[in-house]
Amino acid sequence: MQRIGLFGGSFNPIHNGHLHLAKAAKEGLGLDKVVLIPANVSPFKQDAPGMASGADRLAMCRLAAETLSFCEVDSCELERSGVSYTVDTVRLFRERYPEAELVLLVGSDMFLSFTRWHCWQEILEMAALGVVSRMTGDLEQLRRQQAFLLQYGKIFLCDVPVYTVSSTKIRENRKNHTDFSCYLPQKVVQYIVSHNLYD
Ligand code: ATP
Repeated sequence: MQRIGLFGGSFNPIHNGHLHLAKAAKEGLGLDKVVLIPANVSPFKQDAPGMASGADRLAMCRLAAETLSFCEVDSCELERSGVSYTVDTVRLFRERYPEAELVLLVGSDMFLSFTRWHCWQEILEMAALGVVSRMTGDLEQLRRQQAFLLQYGKIFLCDVPVYTVSSTKIRENRKNHTDFSCYLPQKVVQYIVSHNLYD
């Protein structure tokens, strides 16, 4: 059976932490591919300052995906207007791939607040969760959340070292004229500079 990782985010910009998660999930969970899905408007980041356009975030995702053979990019959330609810995206992929196992990939911050997501129980009926930690020492907390959510669906924790970087830090470094190039694929760095993003 095909196993497909669905990886949504603002990707403002996409960075090596996101790619680390994609690689860890691909290897740890035996995924056939990982689909990067940039959000139009994240429910948790409505009115967030410094949001690059959907077109720019999509372009950067495409450049980053070129560096990983198993990654592709899907613009379904950008094409839907308004707030991007993951449940709608998972329904779409469920219809597209009725036979496949879908694994929704999330970092630990999103996992720990998962019960705040719109229709989270329905999401767990359609897809498993694949979780990668963002913070050293949070394994106990992740295991507790896993034990709770296991009543509703399948939850996989990927046991890999943490890669600490965030889009916020990259945007801040860019504003402060501090080097940020080690946190992103080279072509994404070039895109940010040539399109005057986040300055
Ligand atoms: P921001 O700093 O703007 O809030 P972010 O770096 O958290 O952005 P998002 O695009 O909001 O990035 O994250 C998309 C998904 O990727 C979320 O599930 C998040 O937990 C996960 N993620 C982001 N950075 C990392 C990282 N360094 N390691 C593991 N997962 C990550």
